[in-house]
Amino acid sequence: MAGEPQDDCLFCKIVAGQIPATVVRETETTLAFRDINPQAPTHVLVIPKAHHADAAALAAADPGLAADVLRETRAVAEEEKLDSYRIVFNTGSGAGQTVFHTHAHVLGGRGLQWPPG
Ligand code: AMP
Repeated sequence: MAGEPQDDCLFCKIVAGQIPATVVRETETTLAFRDINPQAPTHVLVIPKAHHADAAALAAADPGLAADVLRETRAVAEEEKLDSYRIVFNTGSGAGQTVFHTHAHVLGGRGLQWPPG
């Protein structure tokens, strides 16, 4: 069912405390932790605690929770003192999504090129 924890989901395991993560922020509905393979000096992932496969599924199932995730990206950027930063939701394997639990990448701390690859 939408939102329920999935046994085979890496990020559900992080939410459950079964896999360690460097958590930078937590709210009732969201978790923010450092990416294990950072692509910029700041690279934080913001996830909803509830399981939704990707950003499109989250937006359709629970727009309020999608807003919580977006609000937390801003809070992370403020805490990390980022003037300019990028928020990325890779959506689908063709776009580079590898973990199918919605996550916003917050990337900053260096110049970022456009368009991305
Ligand atoms: P994506 O390719 O958009 O699905 O992003 C998945 C991200 O999760 C990648 O940037 C990975 O480096 C990151 N990642 C994978 N495993 C972990 C982990 N255990 N803790 C933190 N980040 C992770």
